[in-house]
Amino acid sequence: MLEDFKDNSFYLYAKNIDKYFHAYLFEVNDINDSFPIILAFAKTILCKHHYKNLNNCKDCNKCHLIDEGYFEDLKIIEPDGSMIKKEQILELKKNFSLKSSNDNNRVYIIKNADCMNPSSANSLLKFIEEPESGIYGILITTNKKQILPTILSRCVLISLKTKEKNDINIDEVKNLSLFMKNIYHKKEEMIPYLKQDFFSLYENREQILNAFHNMELILDIAINLEYKKDNINSQDICDIIINELGDIDLNKKILLLEKIVKYRAKLINVINLNLNLFMDRFIIEISEVL
Ligand SMILES: [Zn+2]
Repeated sequence: MLEDFKDNSFYLYAKNIDKYFHAYLFEVNDINDSFPIILAFAKTILCKHHYKNLNNCKDCNKCHLIDEGYFEDLKIIEPDGSMIKKEQILELKKNFSLKSSNDNNRVYIIKNADCMNPSSANSLLKFIEEPESGIYGILITTNKKQILPTILSRCVLISLKTKEKNDINIDEVKNLSLFMKNIYHKKEEMIPYLKQDFFSLYENREQILNAFHNMELILDIAINLEYKKDNINSQDICDIIINELGDIDLNKKILLLEKIVKYRAKLINVINLNLNLFMDRFIIEISEVL
């Protein structure tokens, strides 16, 4: 199932993952449509075999139980009526308060996570804030803006939304394509200047996070352009991307995308991150692999 997402940054992320985070928030167009992909991701956490083969677990009892809905270390929560109630979260916590009988990783999935009322959201927040090892949360929403900011800030955000034209403006495309091009072409002594340029546009953690997300979008477009897939972005945006990133070959674009996904996850998950060091490491790592 993950194979369906081969040219999406999420696939690269899932394929190369070496450490899972405690909570993920998936933003999707349609929860039912995206659910099989998200369940496949949950299986990579729950079944080591699945992780190796990315959905190639035909005779695996564990994955079979997951598919049938009988696997006790996976809990799926859906709104009860129009709301996810506090009782549902409390029951989940109770369920996961005892150690897994098989020493498995455990996963809970919350569909329509935006349907939590304040008391259920706060109850979940405590669960996410003090994560027990081996417990992983996957929240799904069609609109991340409706998720409590305190929850949002503790989740790794993964967007499976169809990229829309107005997701990214043309100045951002210009700035960030140029930034990536410069990392690709410039030598080590240029690093302080690249960092200064970047910080002059993106000052705080929030803005930097956004910039990383937009770099992923730009690379997604750049990679799609090479696959000659249907393109929903404007010609202007495509022209800039081809102009700035056209001479980086496809494999290197994919490598670059992997690094950006990895660093964005770091940015989300490490509280009190030193942004200066973070950008130094990012730029050095990129210029080394490209
Ligand atoms: Zn399996």
